[in-house]
Amino acid sequence: KARGHRSGGYLFFDSSVREQVVSQLWIEGELRRALDEGEFRLVYEPVYDLRERRITGMEALIRWQHPERGLLPPSTFLAVAEECNLILPIGRWVLREACGQMSAWNRLRDSARPRLTMAVNLSPRQFDDDGLVTYISDTLQSTGLRPEQLCLEVTETAVHEAPESAQTVLSRLSELGVQIALDDFGTGYSSLGHLRRIPVNVLKIDRAFVNGLEDDDGDGDAAIVTAVITMAHALGMTTIGEGIESEAQYDRLRALGCDQGQGYLFAEPVSAAAFEALHLGDGGGPDRRG
Ligand code: C2E
Ligand code: MG
Ligand code: MG
Ligand code: MG
Repeated sequence: KARGHRSGGYLFFDSSVREQVVSQLWIEGELRRALDEGEFRLVYEPVYDLRERRITGMEALIRWQHPERGLLPPSTFLAVAEECNLILPIGRWVLREACGQMSAWNRLRDSARPRLTMAVNLSPRQFDDDGLVTYISDTLQSTGLRPEQLCLEVTETAVHEAPESAQTVLSRLSELGVQIALDDFGTGYSSLGHLRRIPVNVLKIDRAFVNGLEDDDGDGDAAIVTAVITMAHALGMTTIGEGIESEAQYDRLRALGCDQGQGYLFAEPVSAAAFEALHLGDGGGPDRRG
């Protein structure tokens, strides 16, 4: 990274910058093509009610089915998509696809059963998308989805970086009846003040804290989780524990009063077809253990 002290160091620096730029431009071109060719996919991870161990909804997570490189996770392309603004059309595609899927699943499920919630992640850059609120409102209309069935997940960092636009956009979305979740809670530039300025319905407790619940090593994870849940409930919010991987974590979270959870203990994210087969069968999905 830093300029080397030998002459070769300079060359190395020079070529690595060039390589970075080339690789960035390459990914950018590939992303454009991927959008045109329809290479993005959504996978869905179920969210469970912890007390009843029953499905309450799902989170949509983007993947890129690259023709040569296979299925790529968001960590490999989202940052570039954000830098070159392609996150705006990609983000709209995600919203449209997830709402369409939820609407199809509504028709599949007995209307007497509780409605499921579809959670969609929003990039902070999407707060700059002037037409976002209209786009979401139109998408809800055209897919016939009830607004409260859509939950938009934003991170504390996103809210911190763009406090004004985030506040405006989230308030307008909230007025539509859409739910708002704070994702990865506890890891960002936490400011409890954000919770007063933006309308938050759901707090998602980051998996770092959920992980730490298993052992009693005195690092305060249980105390933090307890405090977060108490505060969330006092503010009328629902809590979701992220990244639950073991029965022990599940038991602790439930005992601490956390409302819902998701994680590999319940299921990994899968395609819509697999999700339907695994989780939306008779009786609202199996009571899966592990
Ligand atoms: P996130 O929203 O916090 O999503 C949870 C991530 O944790 C997902 O990774 C999920 O596959 C993973 N996960 C779920 N259960 C477990 C578990 O038990 N253990 C562990 N170790 N991991 C678990 P994924 O799909 O790679 O997504 C990573 C991040 O990328 C997401 O974090 C979200 O911030 C972002 N992202 C994903 N899809 C989208 C999208 O459509 N739009 C935007 N803007 N961001 C997205
Ligand atoms: Mg999320
Ligand atoms: Mg998260
Ligand atoms: Mg711990």
